[in-house]
Amino acid sequence: MDRLEAHIRTIPNFPKPGIQFKDITPLVKNPAMLRLAVHQLIHPFLGEKLTAVVGMEARGFIFGSLAAWELGVGFIPLRKPGKLPYDVQSISYDLEYGSTGLEVHIDALDVNDRVLLIDDLIATGGTAAASCELIEKLGAGIAGCAFVVELDELKGRDKLAKYRIHTLIHY
Ligand code: AMP
Repeated sequence: MDRLEAHIRTIPNFPKPGIQFKDITPLVKNPAMLRLAVHQLIHPFLGEKLTAVVGMEARGFIFGSLAAWELGVGFIPLRKPGKLPYDVQSISYDLEYGSTGLEVHIDALDVNDRVLLIDDLIATGGTAAASCELIEKLGAGIAGCAFVVELDELKGRDKLAKYRIHTLIHY
């Protein structure tokens, strides 16, 4: 995991003073690190019967769609409000910086689905908790949540206590 961490860049005071932004673009630029990260994200879930990977806009799309490809399942995007063209299920929540919402198409998942949720980073856990709620509103089950980076001191994991959580790099 040290090799992965060496490809994450910390940008102080972005997008607001006091935020240490973890920039994963050097990691995804590097082919070996990108493959390693995706393989490590899905590794604990290889024995699970999954029907889809769910990823949050926008960096969750990078890791989530590659994970779906590797697992041989489909990819379900969770998007910021107003972006999805068909009927949606919605949720709003607080971020480490600001507040926002997420939407999913109402026919994206149902009771027959069991999914892996993937994002680049868990900070306060608000995004992931809202995503899990959205997935469960559609009736689907959650096999677990996987993140490249976890900001331990924000205790995001506590908001996801009922789910299996897997993270690659801790700060
Ligand atoms: P949270 O809901 O607080 O867990 O925030 C998680 C979401 O916000 C993820 O989609 C991250 O991409 C983004 N995010 C929050 N804090 C940071 C940070 N310090 N560096 C990079 N991305 C962040």
